Amino acid sequence: MARVAIAGAGLAGLSCAKYLIDAGHIPIVLERRDVLGGKVAAWKDADGDWYETGLHVFFGAYPNMLQLLKELGIEDRLQWKEHTMIFNQPENPGTYSRFDFPDLPAPLNGVMAILRNNDMLTWSEKIRFGLGLIPAMIKGQQYVEEMDKYSWSEWMQKQNIPKRVEKEVFIAMSKALNFINPDEISATVVLTALNRFLQEKNGSKMAFLDGSPTERLCQPIVDYITARGGIVRLNAPVKEFLLSADKTVRGFLIRGLNGAADEVVTADVYVSAMPVDPLKAMLPQAWREMEFFKKLEGLEGVPVINIHLWFDRKLTDIDHLLFSRSPLLSVYADMSNTCQGYANPHRSMLELVLAPAKDWISKSDEEIVEATMAELKKLFPHHLATSEPARLLKYHVVKTPRSVYKATPGRQQYRPSQVTPIANFFLTGDYTMQRYLASMEGAVLSGKLTAQAIERALPIAKNAQPVAAFSG
Ligand SMILES: Cc1cc2nc3c(=O)[nH]c(=O)nc-3n(C[C@H](O)[C@H](O)[C@H](O)COP(=O)(O)OP(=O)(O)OC[C@H]3O[C@@H](n4cnc5c(N)ncnc54)[C@H](O)[C@@H]3O)c2cc1C
Repeated sequence: MARVAIAGAGLAGLSCAKYLIDAGHIPIVLERRDVLGGKVAAWKDADGDWYETGLHVFFGAYPNMLQLLKELGIEDRLQWKEHTMIFNQPENPGTYSRFDFPDLPAPLNGVMAILRNNDMLTWSEKIRFGLGLIPAMIKGQQYVEEMDKYSWSEWMQKQNIPKRVEKEVFIAMSKALNFINPDEISATVVLTALNRFLQEKNGSKMAFLDGSPTERLCQPIVDYITARGGIVRLNAPVKEFLLSADKTVRGFLIRGLNGAADEVVTADVYVSAMPVDPLKAMLPQAWREMEFFKKLEGLEGVPVINIHLWFDRKLTDIDHLLFSRSPLLSVYADMSNTCQGYANPHRSMLELVLAPAKDWISKSDEEIVEATMAELKKLFPHHLATSEPARLLKYHVVKTPRSVYKATPGRQQYRPSQVTPIANFFLTGDYTMQRYLASMEGAVLSGKLTAQAIERALPIAKNAQPVAAFSG
């Protein structure tokens, strides 16, 4: 049995701890903030309304997330939606265009969804797009990885796919996948998503959690861990990795809050489940010249903003994710329809992702909401551009200046393995190398891979150490 100290209680850190417990080890998770979940964290306001770091959608193509929910006995908390993708039509305000996936095997259901949509693409565009995709479908993941040298715009041009396909469909898709535009996003990212969506029957089927991710997803993982002898501590920021003379970790130094003294937490194995940006800042001097850690410089979080608007009436009854196709916004949903825990039959609560956010991240909440409302007039003209428009009752804006790593061309080579050159130090997180993108699925899978790597590195000893041995 190994004692494993994990810095960070996002999905990767929690998943790692869960699978370590299953393998008979004892994790102690140390989270900097007073809230679980990292990029899925959520808070309750004074009225009891939840607001979140991000509008989060789960996909059929998330096997590790679905397996985790099943193991926790909470898979019924995912509210599956109709198998469709719905896009706003900017040239026809207030209307929608749908890609409906029929109940047929993959890839036929995806092909049919594309062929049957006549609002967004012409037949010739659909055919040229389909032909362009053939190499990715035939040659598989190796080809997809090789395309990391191109941006999505460059790749589409190389495949002779008309520019209009990018404008109509893939600006929305790139913004949804990585909060950036097609001329910035790596072709590998979009092709990976398309491959999953086209090769798995329910790959693109979407679900919403039935409440806040902190309460409905992270807390059950914590309960599972603590019921089996693990520890999860909030308000426990790791300040420094303390090293031994041989450069291995001898402890995590935890910053004492509110005047308390700093504390050293010791364990057999140490894991960083922090995002890549704070990890880079915390690397000990003795590790900085190592090629493995130097490569982390190639990764950096991308800014994104999540906006919540409460209205005095219903703006839509659509119970699904919507691709806004607006220059300012990415995807959005009326959470009063999509999420049971936020349900309201009389009033809409729109949750919207603003991306790309680099020009907005330093603006005030008021400016952001004002610009969003101007965009919404185009999306909901019947409710917002009338003589008696719906009234905005309140809002919350959550800014994440460095969210998931910015997946521009060439980034794949910088993504580290979970195993590091330091024998007792491992990495986990959505940015580490795993076959899914920087996503909830990627985070959960990375946590599992890290737990497996630790398990391989440390055969289980028969006699358990008391949990109290954690504190130094
Ligand atoms: C707006 C938005 C929308 C998104 N939409 C989707 C979606 O629809 N579908 C999807 O699959 N994914 C989505 N994602 C991505 C998804 O949220 C992330 O990929 C995933 O949650 C990352 O998990 P992680 O554990 O790797 O990192 P994080 O969640 O960032 O966790 C890292 C943790 O480390 C902690 N930490 C940092 N420094 C320290 C320290 N010094 N000591 C201790 N702890 C520390 C942080 O506080 C945090 O809790 C979205 C993200 C955002 C921001």
